[in-house]
Amino acid sequence: MHSPAIPELAQEDPQIAGLIEDEARRQYEKIRMIASENYVSAAVLEASGTVLTNKYSEGYAGRRYYEGQQFIDPIETIAIDRAKELFGVAHANVQPYSGSPANLAVYLAFLKPGDTFMGAGLAAGGHLTHGSPVSVTGKWFTPVAYGVSRETGIVDMNEVRDLALKERPKLIFCGGTAIPRTIDFPAFAEIAKEIGAILVSDIAHIAGLVAGGAHPSPVGYADVITTTTHKTLRGPRGAMILTTEEYATPIDKAVFPGLQGGPHNHTTAGIAVALKEAAQPEFRTYAATVVANAKALAAGLTERGWDLVSGGTDNHLILADLTPKGVTGKVAAKALDAAGIELNYNSVPFDPRKPFDPSGIRLGAAAITTRGLKPEQMGQVAQWMDDTVQAAAKGDTDEYARIAGQVRELMAQYPMPGWA
Ligand SMILES: *Cc1c(COP(=O)(O)O)cnc(C)c1O
Repeated sequence: MHSPAIPELAQEDPQIAGLIEDEARRQYEKIRMIASENYVSAAVLEASGTVLTNKYSEGYAGRRYYEGQQFIDPIETIAIDRAKELFGVAHANVQPYSGSPANLAVYLAFLKPGDTFMGAGLAAGGHLTHGSPVSVTGKWFTPVAYGVSRETGIVDMNEVRDLALKERPKLIFCGGTAIPRTIDFPAFAEIAKEIGAILVSDIAHIAGLVAGGAHPSPVGYADVITTTTHKTLRGPRGAMILTTEEYATPIDKAVFPGLQGGPHNHTTAGIAVALKEAAQPEFRTYAATVVANAKALAAGLTERGWDLVSGGTDNHLILADLTPKGVTGKVAAKALDAAGIELNYNSVPFDPRKPFDPSGIRLGAAAITTRGLKPEQMGQVAQWMDDTVQAAAKGDTDEYARIAGQVRELMAQYPMPGWA
């Protein structure tokens, strides 16, 4: 059952309590490989579910608009200090409600409506908030999207430079949501410098790898770093903006009062706890194992004839084009979910299919690493994935339940924080 236990909730609202219990069990029984997800520790869960949710504290420590901040101020200050220490930055804002609002704060701080900026296109692994036409960032500003090379599946920095020289964006986003390879922060910084643009590094996906030393850090290259706290960093749902001293004030003003009201103090406490955890030696082991697991899984899939975008991975994330397997991404994702393996369908670069029914799937190794899975198990996981996709191609749906049973048996050997 869910841990900490939820007896009061079960008494007062059995309907919601029951669904929470069901979700906890689902998370326990599955191989969860949605690349943006993880399992937070029991300590982070506890911090996130406290009376801090009762408190309003618009403003920043020492400069609040409401009374009663005696204990909120030190909580937020500790979170900020831990973020600065962990990432080695001069300034941290821990108030953004999530990754998308954090990015909006960056636009508000540096751009006027209509201004030109650059970001990775959706098909190249960029996030919606990097200028997608359906996002406010694509509607109210003028985005210029860079892509990946058709041969390598990797961002071509010469192409980025040519585009930047031609379009003269005021701001460049690097990083994204479906990028399986190392981001070349020095090359982006050089281009931004050449045209006098602000470089924003969105490390939402890889923050835990950066903190744990398994991916190079953008610090010293990017003017502003945005990140969620709930992906590889393994904290509660939230976000942070890390900056040099120079940009501290415009960023703080953009978050509050520019974009948000009161910060979510229960989340801030959870972020503080997660940052303490991320500073421990075990977190470095976790980050290294995330990458080792992703690489082992990529090798296992490649051996079984899978076509991986860019040919593999440097980080936690794998993007696979299922065209050679004879199924679409959506058919594969639904079959895998029925087989106890949870991931998402995803566009691949130059995808001839539409985003709602694309050619590929995306998966990540962060959550399974938190559960304790090791590279030795990745061959088995790859086998289950390949068996499921082959069954899907043949329409052999009975196969899914058989694999789901084996997955449940495997996962029962690994404890889950939040489940007892
Ligand atoms: C997940 C993500 C975001 C948005 O985070 P939300 O918390 O879902 O709003 C922003 N940028 C990147 C690169 C992401 O992967």
